[in-house]
Amino acid sequence: MTYIPPEILQHDAKILIEKLKSKQNSLTPKDRISIPPQEMPTQDPNKRNKNMNEVALGFFVEQAKLEAMRCIQCKNAPCVDGCPVRIDIPGFIKAIAQEDFKKAIEIIKNNSLLASVCGRVCPQETQCQETCTVGKSLKDVNKAVSIGRLERYVADWERTQKNIADPIVKPNTGKKVAIVGCGPAGITVAADVRREGHAVTIFEAFHKTGGVLVYGIPEFRLPKKIVQEEVDFLKKMGVEIKTNFIVGRTRKLTDLIQKDGFDAIFIGSGAGLPRFMNIEGENLVGVFSANEYLTRSNLMKAYDKENAHTPIFDSKIVAVLGGGNVAMDAARTALRIGAQEVHLIYRRTEVEMPARVEEVVHAKEEGVIFHILQNAKQIIGDENGHVKAIECLKYELGEPDASGRRRPVEISGSEFNIAVDTVIVAIGNDSNPLIKQTTPSLETNRWGNIIVDENCKSSIDGIYAGGDIVLGAATVILAMGQGRIAARSINEYLQD
Ligand SMILES: Cc1cc2nc3c(=O)[nH]c(=O)nc-3n(C[C@H](O)[C@H](O)[C@H](O)COP(=O)(O)OP(=O)(O)OC[C@H]3O[C@@H](n4cnc5c(N)ncnc54)[C@H](O)[C@@H]3O)c2cc1C
Repeated sequence: MTYIPPEILQHDAKILIEKLKSKQNSLTPKDRISIPPQEMPTQDPNKRNKNMNEVALGFFVEQAKLEAMRCIQCKNAPCVDGCPVRIDIPGFIKAIAQEDFKKAIEIIKNNSLLASVCGRVCPQETQCQETCTVGKSLKDVNKAVSIGRLERYVADWERTQKNIADPIVKPNTGKKVAIVGCGPAGITVAADVRREGHAVTIFEAFHKTGGVLVYGIPEFRLPKKIVQEEVDFLKKMGVEIKTNFIVGRTRKLTDLIQKDGFDAIFIGSGAGLPRFMNIEGENLVGVFSANEYLTRSNLMKAYDKENAHTPIFDSKIVAVLGGGNVAMDAARTALRIGAQEVHLIYRRTEVEMPARVEEVVHAKEEGVIFHILQNAKQIIGDENGHVKAIECLKYELGEPDASGRRRPVEISGSEFNIAVDTVIVAIGNDSNPLIKQTTPSLETNRWGNIIVDENCKSSIDGIYAGGDIVLGAATVILAMGQGRIAARSINEYLQD
């Protein structure tokens, strides 16, 4: 796709808005569908691949209005069924079309606490936008109404307002709830439980709050100040946060109840344990898990070479293994840190890539070289134990596997080498076993995920869980969705 500078996008939107002014209130569905989808203004790809600033700049007001006018307000609203937290999508979009941004954000907040975050990182094309009638009529999911970008628009609008109301919290109940992990699941539970008047303490292993939103997703996709504002909001509600506190080490789960007097616990400890390929050469110097690479860069600010004390490998040519959001984030971070070439190696095709479409487009625009239907066979080292190349195999697609995606089948004899000095493995994460190891009666499945019922209750009374620790590595909105269910259950449990 050719890059269109933001000022041109705004100029075009202004002209179109002016043209539609006279019939704005009498647009037919056909008129609405013929309004062109609005492109997200972004930084120039050749500049942004060298800086950490946010890539997507957000709609101009004219674009937001036009995009909202594309919604035909269909009665059955299939978009709502596609949203894991069931936001009244037609409702908030109608409010944007009427320029009532306050009403729009209020509608979103009825169901979602992290609108600025979800508007930026939700995989809308496989959720609300996948089922959008406009996209279906145009036979292209990429031409669906940009629900996520509109969500981001009003959330950002609200952040610029100075008169955000203070959170309302019911009088203290005398009950105490502990939350393990300050990611999207934990943040959601903390807000919903605290609102009912219970005292809430979050225990977070890292020195910073936000979970993957802070240590995994890079600044250029989700500015950290946005996550910090959400955490500040919790503090304003009276939530206590203890960082550098590893539940299972600093204190066992059961101690929190038996010794510290907590009445209920929510575990939202995520899926922070990286998977490896288990191939030869994975112990060479220059091989990283994406988790380590991204944590160094994001949480420890290694990209800020002049000011940060965190070392990061000075890579020239990087191979990233994987095709999800984590792989895209690692590849794009490597470019920004100074790599001359970044090769992304994925064993299926782009159709099966689990990454958000926008991230794939952005990665390509920024110069990441995609190798599809290929995978690493071994990593080759030099005499000093440093990575010097990666041996790959070519693949073709066979029959669908259990995930419904076509299985990659290796083509024998297709080996070839790419000379690289760094390999970043981004093929998925499992849950950290620490809590299970120190609380044997907590039931988990064979992947170490905590088993919960439909109310997010675990095998132990008073202990609830949700997010990636239950679902396996999933998404922000699913973590929030489970957080809402768990909070409702905890609030009910504490009423008895
Ligand atoms: C690089 C990357 C990019 C991603 N991109 C996207 C995206 O674009 N869109 C999307 O929807 N999803 C994305 N995801 C997935 C998404 O971020 C997760 O699904 C989501 O953050 C899960 O939320 P959570 O609250 O369950 O866990 P987490 O966000 O992992 O938070 C768990 C928190 O618990 C803490 N913790 C762990 N163990 C303990 C302990 N024993 N004691 C105390 N604290 C503990 C951790 O330090 C962490 O802060 C991405 C994930 C990664 C890694």
